[in-house]
Amino acid sequence: GTPAQGKTYQFKLVLLGESAVGKSSLVMRFVKDHFDEYRESTIGAAFLAQTISLDDNTTVKFEIWDTAGQERYKSLAPMYYRNANCAVVVYDITQAASLEKAKAWVNELQRQADPNIVIALAGNKCDLDSRRAVETETAQEYADEAGLLFFETSAKSAHNVTQLFTSIAKKMPLDQ
Ligand code: GDP
Repeated sequence: GTPAQGKTYQFKLVLLGESAVGKSSLVMRFVKDHFDEYRESTIGAAFLAQTISLDDNTTVKFEIWDTAGQERYKSLAPMYYRNANCAVVVYDITQAASLEKAKAWVNELQRQADPNIVIALAGNKCDLDSRRAVETETAQEYADEAGLLFFETSAKSAHNVTQLFTSIAKKMPLDQ
């Protein structure tokens, strides 16, 4: 239930990463607990909200901006991450090049976004382990160096999706 004296903290969260790594699918899994194998790519910015209860008195509400199609219009990206409090940068564990693209997004965020932005790296499609092209340790080492949260996720199986967003919520600055 909703605690009478509870407090809700709202944050803007953006998803970035190469096309088809599963950004929209991760949002759908997190917000609607649903996965659609044949979903068509969204065009334009999709906006969804989801809350996470951290404890009886603390709720974090994410305003989620899925930057659908933005990877094709790179000049528009700053519009999406301007004022973002947190970002999920996604790659596909079966596509090594998508990790390089994710690293480029992280660099851009660390140079141009809010200096306090909380960034998580998500290695998505971990259900496709037999086609893995990026070792967990490789990505974990990079994430540690760059100061990122890191999870391997599957929007399809739901593996680590709640954990990803909850760990971001826990890292957000909540006033004392
Ligand atoms: P986006 O362009 O980054 O938003 O990627 P989408 O969410 O549109 O996903 C691209 C394709 O990958 C779609 O066919 C999805 O069904 C598929 N997909 C997304 N997440 C996963 C996952 O975790 N596992 C598998 N096997 N497929 C996924």
